[in-house]
Amino acid sequence: MRLNIAIDGPVGAGKSSIADEAARRLGILHLDTGAMYRALGLTALRKGVSTEDEAAVTNLCRHLNIAVSHEKDGQHTFVDGEDVTGLIRTPEVSMAASSVSRYTDVRKEMVRLQQKLAAETDMLVDGRDICTTVLPNATAKIFLTASPEERARRRWLEMQAKGQTETYEQVLEELKKRDEQDMNRLVEPLRQAEDAVLLDSTHLSFEQVVDRVLEIVEEKRHG
Ligand code: C5P
Repeated sequence: MRLNIAIDGPVGAGKSSIADEAARRLGILHLDTGAMYRALGLTALRKGVSTEDEAAVTNLCRHLNIAVSHEKDGQHTFVDGEDVTGLIRTPEVSMAASSVSRYTDVRKEMVRLQQKLAAETDMLVDGRDICTTVLPNATAKIFLTASPEERARRRWLEMQAKGQTETYEQVLEELKKRDEQDMNRLVEPLRQAEDAVLLDSTHLSFEQVVDRVLEIVEEKRHG
């Protein structure tokens, strides 16, 4: 049977890096679905399409070819053949991604693409709606979270390491704004699936969280 593992959770819960390491240890691919919404957000910004204009964003999404590939250094994300991996991690693109992800037809298109990828190969998929919508029948479903302050602290350290200059307060404020937007949107708001295992990483180290993810996967796989 196809091994599909779903990890959901809010901004900055460490989903991407935890998912990367857990997938590596399981010997399967990691699909970062946030990167796909980011690719669309980036393209809207570049083309001057307002992220408030649902019809224009939906139209843009329909005419774009968003694709991913898995390389030695992780996932690469492409828009119409251009590798945009290095361009999608700025705060502007984060906000744009959160904005474009509110739209029904955009989500439908992204979910369809993600389900196709996960059906093709064993995969660990992380995002905001993976347990609830993309892979409701996944082998294991995990809702990974941490307190807003801890999530902001981790994100801020990450940004500092990349030489970005935002203050901790700015990062916390942006994170709360995105939480608010992700949890209160009309279409598929961020929520924990009933049968997802809650994993609160506030007081856990990176290794402890990865170990716990692998334990949950083992439990679900073998009972
Ligand atoms: O996870 P990441 O921060 O890269 O996601 C960027 C944005 O894309 C999120 O704020 C969220 O609004 C959106 N997203 C989503 N559904 C997913 C993945 C990301 O709505 N499966």
